[in-house]
Amino acid sequence: MADVIVIGGGLAGCATAYYLAADGVDVTVLERFDLNTLASGSNAGSLHAQIPHDPFVRYGEGWAANYASTVGLLAKSIDMWRSLGDELGTDLEVRLRGGLLVARTPADMQAIERKAAYERGQGLEIQILDRADIQRIAPYVSDQMIGGAFCPDEGKANPFAVAPAFARAAQRLGARIERQTQVLGIERTKAGYEVATSKGVFSANRIVNAAGSDAGKIAALLGIELGDVQGFPIQVSATERVGPLIPHLLYCASDKLTLKQNQVGSLLIGGGWEANIGPYGTPVANPESLRRNMAVALSVVPALKDIRVIRTWAAIVNGTDDWKPILGEIRKSPGFFVNFFPWMGFTAGPVAARIVANLVQGKPAPFDIDLTPFLPKT
Ligand SMILES: Cc1cc2nc3c(=O)[nH]c(=O)nc-3n(C[C@H](O)[C@H](O)[C@H](O)COP(=O)(O)OP(=O)(O)OC[C@H]3O[C@@H](n4cnc5c(N)ncnc54)[C@H](O)[C@@H]3O)c2cc1C
Repeated sequence: MADVIVIGGGLAGCATAYYLAADGVDVTVLERFDLNTLASGSNAGSLHAQIPHDPFVRYGEGWAANYASTVGLLAKSIDMWRSLGDELGTDLEVRLRGGLLVARTPADMQAIERKAAYERGQGLEIQILDRADIQRIAPYVSDQMIGGAFCPDEGKANPFAVAPAFARAAQRLGARIERQTQVLGIERTKAGYEVATSKGVFSANRIVNAAGSDAGKIAALLGIELGDVQGFPIQVSATERVGPLIPHLLYCASDKLTLKQNQVGSLLIGGGWEANIGPYGTPVANPESLRRNMAVALSVVPALKDIRVIRTWAAIVNGTDDWKPILGEIRKSPGFFVNFFPWMGFTAGPVAARIVANLVQGKPAPFDIDLTPFLPKT
């Protein structure tokens, strides 16, 4: 019998297992496929701190006021990313050269300034830029962009490297990892929980649900309604490798865009564009989203006209409408914890896992974080 079973071998699960094992807790991870095969290994690798512009415009200031406390979590996570590679003994390709959100119109600029007020209210540094500033710090940006905002803390890391590095470090500390082990049922027992899987029954005193977009299905095995937890197919594209062009994490206020250059020189172009679900029930790229995503990217970075896209892939992102994480114990099922961070769970992986690992051990939240807005409602 393990002390803790973690369900899910993405970043949330592997990082939670690492922090638990580092604290001397006996932990087993159950993963139905292999590690890092879904969102955590298919994402765009952006490290975000600022409020995402698209939902800010779409849902308005009420949404932003409710979401704002999440900014502090993301900023804390980025602090952890700074030393994470050294801690895990792996080069995670973390580069924090800042996030640049550019504006095409005066209305974009006004929205950026309103959004900056919420971000600064959470202690995030945001510099408002005019056209000359943009041309000075980012000469690769089209001169059609009239200004923007710069968040110095943002950046990127390599999604292929991170969850496996957490998993290896957790194993070195004694964690067990069971791959190809699908959780099929969960029962509460006197001692804790019994988990029925495709490889037999596992028991533990406590469980962490880190099943990403399937977290709602895992909770439902115990009759728990986790709330508005969903999966959305979205896509990212990568170009051929080119010389250094874009040091920043780039966004555009007038349409969905994230753009960055990874360590080997490919430009990763995304921004949450919708993908399709294919005939076998798995996500596949949507050609119209690809066309529109490339059009936005090209309008912001004209040099892209000479660079070829070589691959577009789709994956399911875990999302909620309010964009807020669910972190902590389900009150009506003591010992059953959730580590669910929607939309930006790559950035938040370290901090969310550190928080949940503390809560599982009955310790207070780390870093003096007020968890009230993020605790499960049930
Ligand atoms: C295309 C794309 C781009 C993105 N870009 C970014 C970005 O740039 N920056 C950012 O911060 N975030 C980004 N995200 C979001 C981020 O990737 C996710 O929020 C994060 O990876 C979620 O991690 P997770 O471990 O919770 O989920 P996952 O990585 O999905 O892992 C969940 C795991 O649980 C396992 N599981 C589920 N059910 C069971 C079961 N019954 N039994 C056993 N195992 C089970 C799954 O097989 C899976 O391995 C992006 C997501 C996508 C899809």
